Amino acid sequence: MGFFDKIRAWFTRFMSGRYGVDQMNHELVIAALVLTVLGTLTGLGLVTIIGDVFLITALVRMFSKDRYRRAAENQAYLQKTYKLRQGMTERMNRFRNRKKFRYFSCPKCKAKLRVPRGVGNVTITCKGCGHKFDKKA
Ligand SMILES: [Zn+2]
Repeated sequence: MGFFDKIRAWFTRFMSGRYGVDQMNHELVIAALVLTVLGTLTGLGLVTIIGDVFLITALVRMFSKDRYRRAAENQAYLQKTYKLRQGMTERMNRFRNRKKFRYFSCPKCKAKLRVPRGVGNVTITCKGCGHKFDKKA
């Protein structure tokens, strides 16, 4: 058995029964890196410290043997950030389709509507409330 195989075997044994990486940990590490860079660039020590706290939290969760509790934390985290995630996905889709569609929100009920680009002046009928309004697409 080679040196790296021994290390791999040791690490596998070390990680057995431990929680590992979930989405919350993944995003904690990303946030920690962003905060560390921001803290360093701006010279704000507090920002760097918050980044360190995030990183330590991610490590503690990763090596934790209380898998049930960590999974529950991850669930709660995903639930609390659901709307933010949804909004980001929507914005990404809009950006991806920006050459194909124009996006409007209904002046009456604020529903989000899209119209193919280049159709000229159109009367849009809201799918949510039936309100009609004119736009150039
Ligand atoms: Zn509407």
